[in-house]
Amino acid sequence: MQFLENFSPELTIASPGRINFIGEHTDYNMGYVLPTAIGNTITFKLQKNGSETQCNIHSIGYDGFSLDLKNIAISKTEWENYVLGVLNEISKLTDKVKGFDCTIESNLPLGSGLSSSAAMECGLAYGLNKLFDLGLSKITIVELSQRAEHSYVGTQCGIMDQFASVMSKQGNVILLDCQSLQYQHIPIDINPYKIIMLNTKVSHNLASSEYNTRRKECEEGVVIMKKENPQINTLRDVTRKILEASKNQMSTTVYNRCSFIIDENKRVHKMVAAFKKNDLKEVGALLYEAHEGIRDLYEVSCPQSDFLVEFAKDNAMVLGARQTGGGFGGCTLNIVHETEVDNFRKTAEIAYKKEFDIDLEAFEVQPSGGTMVIQN
Ligand code: ADP
Ligand code: MG
Repeated sequence: MQFLENFSPELTIASPGRINFIGEHTDYNMGYVLPTAIGNTITFKLQKNGSETQCNIHSIGYDGFSLDLKNIAISKTEWENYVLGVLNEISKLTDKVKGFDCTIESNLPLGSGLSSSAAMECGLAYGLNKLFDLGLSKITIVELSQRAEHSYVGTQCGIMDQFASVMSKQGNVILLDCQSLQYQHIPIDINPYKIIMLNTKVSHNLASSEYNTRRKECEEGVVIMKKENPQINTLRDVTRKILEASKNQMSTTVYNRCSFIIDENKRVHKMVAAFKKNDLKEVGALLYEAHEGIRDLYEVSCPQSDFLVEFAKDNAMVLGARQTGGGFGGCTLNIVHETEVDNFRKTAEIAYKKEFDIDLEAFEVQPSGGTMVIQN
């Protein structure tokens, strides 16, 4: 693109991906999650270009496109909608954004459950907020980014990904109540263990329809239980007792979905208690337990993730593992003793290659800070 020839960015933003220790699919059910940003980021370089409404965007490895701020509409090219959606949401809040140029470079594997999508939205919103002095709060950036994904990308995501990407603090996880948005940073120290992600390389891109189906199934459960329990509005309000009392009014599928969410919310609190006591065995056990629910009750796992979790179970130096993210692939999260990391990676790669003929990708992540300016 032409602007690249004279590009002298005023501002560089690093926008991180995230992992979630526990609390899968609980966010859109208004429950609890326990995410943190990681060191892998998408970098945005930005400059004002002096025009009123002309913007040029180039993402390395994708392509470039230009747009007119007066004329923002959904694009046929999927990734452009992350940019357009954010601009559309910002335009509802302020007219201070003017023409700008932006390059995007990522070291986040996409579609692997590390939320490159939220990193895209939040990084751009955060950058434009700084560049044009929009005065938007961090939480406004979180919320407008989520709305952008709903309206322009068409994924009815919860708030967790954007929240974690923006609000994280190094060395901490965030206990987030997705209903009230109250949150607490919880310091974690998992020494001498490491967080090792194994990327199944099975993309969950095709799974967005299943994601929306899960949301509907949860809503269906709420509608059924609400008949006799008018006080409940989401699965957040449902106790095990309420669910069991309504069991024979719903399909086994809907029952299983609700059952998983109730357990998963409890596991979030158990995990926080385990971190506070530094009981890493319990942390690991909760991961394995969560994966069983993901596989059998919520049914968003896949043979590749199941294989890797079972592989971890066979290794006494691994405390726990589960598939993370929306499902159907992406990464598994593993708590591995530091002396075993190399061996675990190597043996997992060999076994995975043999079983699925896919080259596994293993990498370590650390609880990191949220979206930030890295150069001004
Ligand atoms: P995840 O959020 O788990 O990584 P999603 O399917 O929600 O997976 O988001 C991935 C999508 O985000 C990609 O298909 C692409 O459209 C967009 N995206 C991610 N990274 C980039 C990037 N560096 N440049 C442009 N678009 C990106
Ligand atoms: Mg995403």
